[in-house]
Order: sequence, then C-alpha cells, then structure tokens
Amino acid sequence: MADCLFCKIVGGSIPSERVAETERILAFRDINPAAPTHVLLIPKEHVADSAEQLHGEHGLMLAELFGLAAEIAAEAHLEEGWRLVTNVGAGAGQSVFHFHVHLLGGRPLGWPPG
Ligand code: AMP
Repeated sequence: MADCLFCKIVGGSIPSERVAETERILAFRDINPAAPTHVLLIPKEHVADSAEQLHGEHGLMLAELFGLAAEIAAEAHLEEGWRLVTNVGAGAGQSVFHFHVHLLGGRPLGWPPG
C-alpha cells in the first residue's frame, strides 16, 4: 500500500533496524521500545490492516511469523519469558494499520497487562 509506513519499511524507503527475515516476514526493532527487546514482526505483503482481517489463507504466514519470533527470542536469550502482542484498533493502542506482532522481553512482564 502506497501510504503505509510498514510497507515503506519493507520497501526500504524508510530505514529500520532489521533483525531477521524469512520469505514472508520481516522483523525489525521498534523505534520506541517498551522493553529491552522490542521487535516488530510483519508480513512483507500488506495482507491485513490488523488481526481481525486474518483468515485461513494466512496460516502459513502466521506460522512463519511465530517461528521467527521464537528464533529471535532464543537468540536474544529471553529465557525468563517473552510475549507476543498484536493490537487491534485504536482503542487497543494500534497506531500502524499494517498487521504486526510485537515481541517483548528482557524485563519482567506483568500479567494482566495494563
Ligand atoms: P501499534 O501501536 O501496535 O500499531 O504498533 C506500532 C509500533 O510501531 C509502535 O510501537 C511504534 O513505536 C512503532 N513504530 C512507528 N514508527 C516506526 C518506525 N519508523 N520504525 C520502527 N518502529 C516504528
């Protein structure tokens, strides 16, 4: 999508600190980290604005995303625990409407979240 921040990051016209990628997924550091490790995982293709638009045909992409998240967590030595979060809608804090998942770790993560 022409006017999407994360599509521009995928395309390289907006810089990012890339952590890892697969065929379908790009992982890069959040510009405003909420934890010592805060990585965003996004599908390279703008397949959904948020998780509410996902369905069966996105299964392979989601499996790849979760698998890559686990690899990044292992490389970052997040043995104490880590969290995946996806915000749906502005009321939940979503600010970029290209489906993405936050990987958070490196500090105690309270539950339930605030
Ligand atoms: P959300 O609020 O769930 O939509 O998450 C969007 C995230 O994107 C926020 O945590 C922002 O800090 C992050 N963000 C915004 N712009 C950039 C950027 N240029 N590079 C990396 N992360 C960004």
